[in-house]
Amino acid sequence: MSDLTDLQIDDLKTRLVQSGRELKVEIREILIRSDEQHHKDLAGAVADAGDDAVADMLVDIDTALADRHVLELRDVESALQRMRDGKFGVCIECGVDVGYERLTVYPTAKRCIRCQQRHEQTHFRGTTPTL
Ligand SMILES: [Zn+2]
Repeated sequence: MSDLTDLQIDDLKTRLVQSGRELKVEIREILIRSDEQHHKDLAGAVADAGDDAVADMLVDIDTALADRHVLELRDVESALQRMRDGKFGVCIECGVDVGYERLTVYPTAKRCIRCQQRHEQTHFRGTTPTL
């Protein structure tokens, strides 16, 4: 458990739910704008779906912008899931508190700042040879 108060968690939850809604609206609009019938079918499905599992439904979307929104939506949904599991606000790698200050900036943050920096270094260094 993190040391977040119920009030802080409530506040972050409201923001996560809200941004999840906005992302779904945006994804739906992108799908509707695209010409493929398959995407239009998906757009209808997004509108009908509940709050969960929308991101999973959208795995095969290939529009770059929608892709980014889908990734964000996935982050939002996994943050809400961690909240339900009582693991929200705790770094998934080292277990320290992520901290309310960091969470107000990145409500979907799942790592503390130190682990996040290490994670980004390991990931982005791999794109070019470092010999
Ligand atoms: Zn950490």
